[in-house]
Amino acid sequence: MSSSETIRNIYLSLHAAYGNRDWWPAVDGFEVIVGAILTQNTNWKNVEKAIKNLKTADVMTPIKLHELPREQLAELIRPAGYYNIKAARLKNLLDWMVENYSAGMESISALPDWQLREELLAVKGVGPETADSIMLYAFNRPIFVVDAYTARVFGRHMLIDEYADYHQIQELVQSSIEPDLKIYNEFHALIVEVGKNHCKPRPKCQGCPLEHLPHQVEEV
Ligand code: SF4
Repeated sequence: MSSSETIRNIYLSLHAAYGNRDWWPAVDGFEVIVGAILTQNTNWKNVEKAIKNLKTADVMTPIKLHELPREQLAELIRPAGYYNIKAARLKNLLDWMVENYSAGMESISALPDWQLREELLAVKGVGPETADSIMLYAFNRPIFVVDAYTARVFGRHMLIDEYADYHQIQELVQSSIEPDLKIYNEFHALIVEVGKNHCKPRPKCQGCPLEHLPHQVEEV
């Protein structure tokens, strides 16, 4: 089986097992942007608490968050962990939105893919995974998001070696599955699901939806 066939097989097997994940769990694109920063190095439950705090404080708009002093923002997002760093990163993103686009999601939506990605990556604290999560889930661009689970699953299924970087893994998927918003949206979420349930540091291959595909796990 070629790498491309294996990638497509992984997608189909995960989708058959878990169904549509319907990500991202947010009410609108701006909430996705905030969540993409808050979810760095923490689980989603903590992000939900932080977002709830922002909503309760009635500051969940680009302008209100931009005007909020950084210390107050940090306090409100404390449940998400690394709250001082994340407050600074959110502020950087908000500066970009407000100073360049008057906080208008529509104006940002009009940017071509390459420019949107380039501008997001130029914001301090926004790396490829965060930028692509925002591209895919906030602005509906068919871009595959790579995360640590993707690298682990693909590594164990011998699709990549240990030196593969973000772009190589992304290219592997994007050259195996034609750009498709719905499939890329689901595929990332499905990989997170199998990573949380089975492909942990100590893998639980028995009963895993990908157990039937060739894989090799390291001794832990
Ligand atoms: S747990 Fe095992 S079968 Fe499942 S994705 Fe990881 S390596 Fe593959």
